[in-house]
Amino acid sequence: MIGGPERHTCSRADCRLEATAAIEWRNPRIHTGDRVKVWLACDDHVGVLRDFLAARAFPLEVKRLDASADRVR
Ligand SMILES: [Zn+2]
Repeated sequence: MIGGPERHTCSRADCRLEATAAIEWRNPRIHTGDRVKVWLACDDHVGVLRDFLAARAFPLEVKRLDASADRVR
């Protein structure tokens, strides 16, 4: 599937930016039970991807990829 965990790239076509969020979603028509798809999104595309799914009434959850977790606040 996707390469190593050290860097996440946005799932949007032609986008090579680093993802800052993961969108977990499900299509109730084809995905049953706990089967969940994950799209990675950069800051520019998280809204676009989320809206795309929301427009189809798919259950979704956006989780921030906290790349700065190690930094002091
Ligand atoms: Zn992007």
